[in-house]
Order: sequence, then C-alpha cells, then structure tokens
Amino acid sequence: MIFCRFSFQDDASNTIRYGLVESHHVKEITPNPFSDFEIIDQEIPFSSVILHAPTLPSKIVGVGLNYKAHAKEMDHPLPEEPVLFLKPSTSLIGPEYYIHYPKMSSRVDYEAELAVVIKKQGKDIPLENVKDYILGYSCFNDITARDLQKMDGQWGRAKSFDTFSAMGPWIITDLDPSNLQIESYLNGELKQSCKTSDMIFDVPTLISFISKVMTLEPGDIITTGTPPGIGPMQRGDSIDIRIEGIGLLRNTVR
Ligand code: MG
Repeated sequence: MIFCRFSFQDDASNTIRYGLVESHHVKEITPNPFSDFEIIDQEIPFSSVILHAPTLPSKIVGVGLNYKAHAKEMDHPLPEEPVLFLKPSTSLIGPEYYIHYPKMSSRVDYEAELAVVIKKQGKDIPLENVKDYILGYSCFNDITARDLQKMDGQWGRAKSFDTFSAMGPWIITDLDPSNLQIESYLNGELKQSCKTSDMIFDVPTLISFISKVMTLEPGDIITTGTPPGIGPMQRGDSIDIRIEGIGLLRNTVR
C-alpha cells in the first residue's frame, strides 16, 4: 500500500487528510494509517492532489555516519554503535515545498536518506519483532548547515532549522529496505548513488537500538543516514532524492 497526506484543489476547507494512493487517484482514509482505518470511496484525481509530508511525527530520529563510504568521506572511523541525533517535528516539509536557506549559515548540504515510519508504540523492541513496528518507508533529505555543525560540535542547530527535513512523496509499505538504490540529483546532476546494503547498521538493528533509548510512537520517523557524495546547495537549486521502489522527492532552495 501507498499512504500519503494530501489536500486537493477545489476543496474549500483546504484540509490535509491521510490518503491511499492508487494508480491515478487518491482515496481519503480515516482516521489514519496507524490504526484500523476506513477508506472513503471518493476518487480524487492525482492531477488535483497536493502532497504534504506523509506523517506527523512526535520526533525525527537521525542516524549519523551510517554508510561505510560516507564515514570514510568524512574521515571518521566506523562507529561501534549507532550515532543518534534528533530533528524537531517543526523542521518537516513535504514534496515541492521550499527549503529555506538560513541567514546564519553559508554552507547548507543535502543528504539523501531512507526514512522509516513507525506504526505503533514500541519500547525495547527485540530485533526479531521490529517488522511489526514499521509502517513503511519514504525518501528523506536530512538538510544540514555543515558550517554550524562543525562550529558547534553539537548537531542541534545545524540539523533543526525550519524546512530542514524534507520527506516524501509518500510511505510505501511492504518493501524490503536491505538493498535499495538511493540517489540524489542536484539540478538534475547525479550526486549520490549507493545501495542501502552499504549501511553499517541495518534498519532492524537501528529500530531495535533506538527503542532501547526512547519510546517510539506511531508516525515517528527514523532517518537512516546518508551515503557518500554530500555537498552544498545554493538558493534556486532543485534537489531530488530518489529511492528504488519508493519514488522521487523534489524540493527547491530559496
Ligand atoms: Mg544525515
């Protein structure tokens, strides 16, 4: 199944709803994909659909340095345990939204990542049960003010500006995340290209590990680290994140 959050043209209420994506249309679901839901039969044609970030998380958990080749690129030894950080829910935007270049920074980077969306509340999830806690997967751009990341030592400021978590276009369920092609394109030019099999800690290991630290809630996002090839974006640039089996997330910087 493919879940999204959407509004649509000619809807006077301008409400954002959860939806189920079918071939040429979206059907609203209620209340949400994290519980038993009802499908409302009206077909809303894709041409009038506006997509938004596909979940409303209580938190976004980031994983640093989770690709072997990226750790090498950053001149870091491979971590022995996952390196975690948080991004605020207020940083989240959907496809086609603008990324705002903050005045405080003069180096803002894209980072293509596979995002995992949590399905139900979980704490201390054993590795073998992780699957039951995953709703699905999406494309994620973990936008980072690289200069502030280096200056601060802590990553809180560098990762948390409004619009610094781009996600979409939707959530795909029933996907094996272990060996997907992940790519980013800056103004159409390929910048990152890797397989998720290059991750140091795979998706089940990450979810189980994170749940030993913090309770995961329905809708929470785990973004699983970026492959090598990160680089800066400028105002006016368009940045695409493409993941095999999921689709394409496009945003523009301004
Ligand atoms: Mg990252």
